[in-house]
Formats: sequence, structure tokens, C-alpha cells
Amino acid sequence: MNPFSQLGIRHDIVNAITELGFENPTPIQEQAIPVLLTGSSDFVGLAQTGTGKTAAFGLPLLELLDFTQNSPQALVLCPTRELCLQIANDIKKFSKNIGNVHVVAVYGGANISDQLRQIRRGVQIVVATPGRMLDIIGRKAIDFSGVRYVVLDEADEMLNMGFQEDINDILSTTPEEKKTWLFSATMPTEVRRIAKNYMTDPHELTVGTKNTGNANINHEYYVVRPRDKYAAFKRIVDFNPEIFGIVFCRTKIETQEIAEALIKDGYNADSLHGDLSQQQRDKVMKRYRERSLQLLIATDVAARGIDVNDVTHVINFSLPDEIENYTHRSGRTARAGKTGVSIALITSKELGKIRQIERVIGKQFVKAEIPNGFDVCEKQLFALVHKVKTVEVNDNQIGQYLPRIMDEFADFSKEDVIKHFASLEFNRFLDYYENAPDLNISASESRGNDRGSRGDRPDRSSYNSDYTRLFINLGSVDDFTRGDMLGYICNNAKISGKSIGKIDLKGVFTFFEVENSVADKVMNEFNQVDFNGRSVRIELAGERDGGNRSGGGRSRSYRSSGNGGSRSRDREKDGGGFRDFSGKRRERRSEKKRW
Ligand code: AMP
Repeated sequence: MNPFSQLGIRHDIVNAITELGFENPTPIQEQAIPVLLTGSSDFVGLAQTGTGKTAAFGLPLLELLDFTQNSPQALVLCPTRELCLQIANDIKKFSKNIGNVHVVAVYGGANISDQLRQIRRGVQIVVATPGRMLDIIGRKAIDFSGVRYVVLDEADEMLNMGFQEDINDILSTTPEEKKTWLFSATMPTEVRRIAKNYMTDPHELTVGTKNTGNANINHEYYVVRPRDKYAAFKRIVDFNPEIFGIVFCRTKIETQEIAEALIKDGYNADSLHGDLSQQQRDKVMKRYRERSLQLLIATDVAARGIDVNDVTHVINFSLPDEIENYTHRSGRTARAGKTGVSIALITSKELGKIRQIERVIGKQFVKAEIPNGFDVCEKQLFALVHKVKTVEVNDNQIGQYLPRIMDEFADFSKEDVIKHFASLEFNRFLDYYENAPDLNISASESRGNDRGSRGDRPDRSSYNSDYTRLFINLGSVDDFTRGDMLGYICNNAKISGKSIGKIDLKGVFTFFEVENSVADKVMNEFNQVDFNGRSVRIELAGERDGGNRSGGGRSRSYRSSGNGGSRSRDREKDGGGFRDFSGKRRERRSEKKRW
């Protein structure tokens, strides 16, 4: 017997959810469904997001409501438009084999007339965000006198977002004798209060330990110098070629800065924050869902209720101000029984916060090392090899070109061909990561001595475009230390040491950074300079390292929307823009605002 049937779900519904891939109930479903099916008690379910809550209350609702009546019998309140649509769509899918089920999604930022029309046509289940629901109630456009069940989903989020009063007002329009089912990831006192005020002797269920993070999430932290944060972040991303992640920042500006820097560096990223219009947000979310975007950079508020499956990594670029928010952030991964990683990029001063979070989530973080350049190259290489090996070959289409391709490779051995294909991508990473510095913080630094040495100057990553990186054909073999080099550049270019950024001393050459305003001056002043009879050359570093100073840059082959094809976006050698799959040139965005 199907395990859902055993729980008391009828065949029509079981068939529908089987098609959705629900073979076995999740723990919350297993425990909540039999209780809710009785229809006789209030209910409090403490479970993380992504654990199958929608079916846990949705399936019992479908069993309990009378679909011969076309009047509202169940009201589901949830914090965001995203979640509202998700729940309404899920319930529609669960009920596809039952006749006359009408579900309406009521949420702000969309045409109210359409929603009113659907309500007028007759609905049994209303899924709503509190603000718009209240608006509709205010217009006397809905009658809740026949409501038998109210579900408060993600109650903690709704309270976080200040919906307490709206919820009170909405609930006051529903009958006293209704049953209330409350779901929440956490149980702060405000949620407790709701349970106390609106429920009678509720059946309480906790899946996992209270306030405990999802057991399928591994929590990692990386200690970095503040100036290396962006570089370290990119390295972690490069080390995970299949990453599909959400990156959390503390502010809208930080969100936008990071997203723009990533786009400039050739990553499929975009930002989601409160300054975007609803239309812009929808567009970003659509691209993320369809996986045309690989990294979604978001603020806490904007990311509330985001419910996308298969998010592999949550990255806390900045830790949240409120510890509780860490649980919400990390809950965006490891959904539906999958595993996921939640990463925190911290400075040595923030270690205390990690310990606090550990106490809240009841789980320990693992301290991880930022991968070195070699590790990244190796990982990328084998990801490419795997991709080549597993790519679906369209014999019909490729067949016609094969004779010409074979001709081209006539003189190549099998080994040569493989070497060439593998090098195509590998070389770019090798170029970028050759001589990449160790970004891990040393033990002495992590003890609080975070100042670095004189020569260890800020690494002006690409999101901060105030510095220009230059190349000089002198290095340690010429008996320079970084201090010597600093003095040598200052003396010859007649600039102050303050204008010089990071100095990366190599064997026969050095990369160094200077403020943009003096870059031309430095190059001009060195025009005629000799060193031990050798003429000294200064060039833009971009010309030496393939124009790729700012990042590994990634050629993305990622599932794209609609056409089912894959899209590769290569950073061009001249760094002037990207070409998308259609070959159209997209202008690179203008210089970014200062961090
Ligand atoms: P939810 O917590 O309701 O948002 O569910 C998270 C994800 O898990 C959704 O994509 C559901 O479709 C999926 N899901 C829920 N229950 C099951 C189940 N029993 N088996 C497989 N997937 C499920």
C-alpha cells in the first residue's frame, strides 16, 4: 500500500502527488497528516522551510473541505508573494484529479481586479499575503463566515515582517470555531503568543529540535581578511563548479556591488533587493528558478520566502545582524531531503558570532580552508572532463559536421584531441590562478593581529575600481623586497607611498597597484628608467595576465531557460564586454560605485 494512502489520503490525491515524485512522506507529513485529518484540533508545527509543510497541511485540507460548495472554507496566510504563489500552485497540483477545486492566490503587487474576479467566481481555498487579504476584506469582497481552517504558514516570518496586526484583523473576520494550524521554523515568544491567543490546546509537533537547523545542512566558515573577502568568495565559487547558490549580504548596496562585480567578472549572477520593482524582482527570480542565473545575491528581506529547490550553497557574504536570520538564510538550501552547505565568510573578529549561531542551531560549524589556486584549477579541470564525458550528443545535428571536424583533427592522436579540449577551459583558470596568493589567514593574524605587513596592502578586488594593477619587469631576483619595491616605485614615479596598493613581488617581475589617478603618471615616469643597464618596463597588468586581473572569470555552461540549450558566456580577451550565446555583444556595465 502506498505510504500516503496508509496515512489516510485518497487515491486520486495519491496519484497526483506520485506524479510529483512524492513516494514517501517527509517526517512532518508523516506526523502531521494523521493529526490534521481528524479536523478536530488546533495545531502547531515547528519545522524548517523546505521540509514538505505545504503537503502536510495541503493534503488534509483537500480531504476535509466540501468541494461541492463554492465558498471559502480554508484560508492560508503566508509572508510573501513568492510563497503564496508556490502554495496555491502546489495545492492545485495535489488536487488535479479532484473535481471543482478552486484555489486563489491573493497577494500584493499584482492586479487586484483579477483576484477579485476569481473570488467572485467561487473559491474554497484562499492563499494570501496579509496586506492584500486585508485590502480585499476591507472592500467587503469576500465572505469568511464559512471558513473552517486557517493555516498560518511561516508564522515567524510573518511576524518578522510586521504582519501581526493584519493577522489579528484578518482572523477576526473568521468564525470562532474554526481550527488554526500554525507552522513556523522558529518559535520566538511572539509566535508563542499567537498560539496562545488563537488556539485551544493545540497539538504540538516539532520535527527536529526546536530552533535547530536542518540536519542536512553542513555549516562551514572561512576566516578571511576583510580586504580578501571578495577574492576568497570567488575562489570558493570557482572551487564549486556546479554551485547554484544564494549569497546573502547585509545591505542593498552591498548586494548590488557584489552582483555587479560578479557580472563584470563573468559570473551568472544578479541581485535581489528591496529597491527593485516587483516586476524586476519577478524577472530575477524567474531567471534564477530557470537556472539562467547561478548566483542570486540577496538581502534578508528580499530573500524571504524564496523557495527554490536544489540550492546547493547559501553563502553568508556578511553575517546577518540577527542570529535568527542565519536559520532563515541557511534554510534556503537542503530542501526536500537534499543536502546543502551554508558558508559564512568571516573576519577573525567575528568568530564569537559563529559560536553564538552554533548555540542557536545546535550544530557545529566546520572551519574550512580557502582553496588554493592549484585546487581550483584541478577541480575545474575535472568538472570540465565530466561535462564532456556526460554531455548529450545530438547525433543528427552534429553528424553532418563530423567529416569536417575529423579532417581538422586528422593529425591529432586521441590524446592530443583530449588535451586540446581540456585545455580550452583549463588554461583560463591556470592563467588566472597561477601565482594566486594564499587567502587563508595565518594563526597570528587570526589571534587578532589583523594588520598585515607594510607591503601587504589591500587587494583591490574588481568591485573596487579605484586602483589600477601594473606590471613591472623587476622582482625578487633583482634583490627587491616589497619594501624596496615600494620605495623604488615612489622615488622614480614621484608619488606618495599612500597611492600604492598591494605589491605582489614575483621572481623576475612584480604586480603592484596604484590609485587610478596616478597610474598614467607612474607609466610615464618610468618611460626612461634603467635598472643596472636594463630598461625598466611598466605595463597595465591586464595586458600581462590576459586582461583577467579581476577574477577567474567563468565560461558558464549552464542550463538556460526555454530553448533547452546551454549557454556559454566567455569573458573576452580585451575585457570590453561579454558575448552571449547568440554572439551579440553586451556592453559591460559602467564602473561601479565605490564599495
Ligand atoms: P515545502 O516545504 O512544502 O515547500 O516542500 C519543499 C519541496 O519538497 C517542494 O518542492 C515539494 O514539492 C517537495 N516535497 C514535499 N513533500 C515531498 C515528498 N513527500 N517527497 C518528495 N518531495 C516532496
